[in-house]
Amino acid sequence: MATLQQALKTAQQALSALPQANPELEAALLLCHLLEQPRSYLFAWPEKELTPAQQQRYVDLVERRRAQEPIAYITGQREFWSLNLRVNPHTLIPRPETELLVERSLYHLQLISQPRIADLGTGSGAIALALASERHDAQIAATDISAEALAQARENSTALGFTQLTFHQGSWCEALPAEESYDLIVSNPPYIEADDPHLNQGDLPQEPELALVSGRDGLDAIRAIIQQASLQRLSPGGWLLLEHGYQQAEAVQQLLESAGLGNIATHPDLAGLPRVTEAQSMDIAKGGHNWYLTLSHLIGKEPGIR
Ligand code: GLN
Repeated sequence: MATLQQALKTAQQALSALPQANPELEAALLLCHLLEQPRSYLFAWPEKELTPAQQQRYVDLVERRRAQEPIAYITGQREFWSLNLRVNPHTLIPRPETELLVERSLYHLQLISQPRIADLGTGSGAIALALASERHDAQIAATDISAEALAQARENSTALGFTQLTFHQGSWCEALPAEESYDLIVSNPPYIEADDPHLNQGDLPQEPELALVSGRDGLDAIRAIIQQASLQRLSPGGWLLLEHGYQQAEAVQQLLESAGLGNIATHPDLAGLPRVTEAQSMDIAKGGHNWYLTLSHLIGKEPGIR
């Protein structure tokens, strides 16, 4: 029988032919998944032997990975904002750069107690759940057009023990309860151009097209969200935050400006690429409970700087 160490070595060799893979890490992740053990277990028990059944299952897992199935779909999980989330082929695999959306959202929510938040196209629930983990006082509506994705988001929320989320199936703001408005609307929508060769790389071919592609210029979803959010759904002084492609910042800024939103700013992700653009409802005439946002707007300062 093979020891853990031997099995890992064989798997690493099998996975080394894969483009953009990290054979050592992936061999370990798959073995941990099989054994239901943390990575420290592999270092602690290198001489431990796999049973014949375990060995066969390990070979099967490695074969799936060799056939380019994303590691997150094989293990059924991915970490985001230190939360362990379950994912499936109906949900986009959460990306590290999307944590920037969470950071910027928390920044704008600093001075709002019991904020009302909407996460549009929530997928596995990553953004909504990260915000819930930081802001226990928030009320969060998570939407998705895919029933399967929404079920996964709901399951993740239950597993984490959160009670402040509601789930709504439908297209962008149309899914939200009628008459509700939000202090903050956040979305990582599909934004890739339909014929972008990037769609053939890495995990993307196996991820839901619905979560990736959005028309010829990649901006269909972003256009719909900006229009719907600015017209009906942002509270006076409320913020809209969008993730987008690294070449889309200017176009997104123009769309936000045309929709009458202000205080528009783009922020770079960890790779230094313009990734998140945010804007505020300038509809201050109606007042609303975000009086300090209104005030900070009048004196021309961003709120909540500490
Ligand atoms: N950032 C992802 C990628 O290019 C796409 C995610 C999205 O479309 N929202 O891999």
